[in-house]
Amino acid sequence: MKEAFRRIYGAYPDGVWAAPGRVNLIGEHTDYNDGFALPIAIPQHTLVAARRRQDGRLRLHSAQGDGPVIDLHVERLTPGAVTTWGAYPAGVVWALREAGHRPGGADLHIDSTVPTGAGLSSSAALECAVAFAYNDLYGLNLSAPALALIGQRAENGFAGVPCGAMDQLASACCAAGSALHLDIRAGAHEQVPFAPETQGMSLLVVDTRVKHDLGDGAYAALRAGCEQAARLLGLVALRDLTPADLHGAAAVLPAHLVPLVRHVVTENARVTDAVVRLRAGHLAALGPILTAGHASLRDDFRISCPESDLVVDTALAYGALGARMTGGGFGGSVIVLAEEDRVEAIGAAVTSAFRTAGYQAPHLFPVSPAVGARRIV
Ligand code: ADP
Ligand code: MG
Repeated sequence: MKEAFRRIYGAYPDGVWAAPGRVNLIGEHTDYNDGFALPIAIPQHTLVAARRRQDGRLRLHSAQGDGPVIDLHVERLTPGAVTTWGAYPAGVVWALREAGHRPGGADLHIDSTVPTGAGLSSSAALECAVAFAYNDLYGLNLSAPALALIGQRAENGFAGVPCGAMDQLASACCAAGSALHLDIRAGAHEQVPFAPETQGMSLLVVDTRVKHDLGDGAYAALRAGCEQAARLLGLVALRDLTPADLHGAAAVLPAHLVPLVRHVVTENARVTDAVVRLRAGHLAALGPILTAGHASLRDDFRISCPESDLVVDTALAYGALGARMTGGGFGGSVIVLAEEDRVEAIGAAVTSAFRTAGYQAPHLFPVSPAVGARRIV
């Protein structure tokens, strides 16, 4: 990273920062409903080499960006001004200014092993790596959760994606060997031990390579539907509804909102259930929770796709403990929890099922919970 930075900018960076991608074990589309989620950081991560500048210029380069250096000025950052990938890092600097900080200029070089658009949160990894770099470069003294919320603000307000805070909190706050139990309303998070390999199990990620596009409006429409349902029920957010309230809620809501509400309410309950199981050391019991979560996203939220369903169905047919699509939906990745000695057969069966269906070959890799964002050099 240091040499690449020097080739681009002609000097060595002040430091290098890293932030991971994530997979969410359970708790999908719950963050913007003030609810719960349970992500882990994955070993794939985004690196940012950065050097302070005194003149307010902000220069951006990415090994994945496929273009020349983007040359901006910190004082002139306004939403809409950057329409390329540069909106994510520039948005972080903008969000810091919006929050009342006085970040100066910098040169940034970015490189990443998180595949983009695969539901593994390359956008949050990028935002968090830049936010952590700026925090140190300009001595801002912000906490990891505060930097995560700066990243979310960048994505919402500058890149124009109305995401919740789960991805950024995962990238910023996760710890190795743990899942992160998020309570979005309380602004609280707790580490929950999660180490499948110590119990003879493995968590497999299957990237279907169906590119989701969260900017295409479907995500925003789902979010608006949830918010409308909460308003009609006189609630601050769907977080305030329990499974016991569902029957009564269904009686007052328009029919098309009922499945959305049912997903959010049952999904929050699944997160709570999963945390209880993990804390009790019953890792295998997570399996059915994952699979129930997938059915809810497929049938109630309707954001799965044939490729993701095929991974889930095939994995279960070949003995997986549980499987579900992860991320915002419409493609991306599936996670599969399985006994170690089943993983190879499951992988082969999924690959073969994709070939038979005429889909492009999926990417499969095991993950274990990795560390969150930090300075590495
Ligand atoms: P996901 O976060 O699931 O990977 P998103 O659509 O939210 O998918 O974010 C992907 C976008 O983030 C990319 O299209 C690109 O604009 C930006 N991005 C992520 N990582 C990088 C990177 N290493 N270099 C440049 N842009 C990146
Ligand atoms: Mg993203």
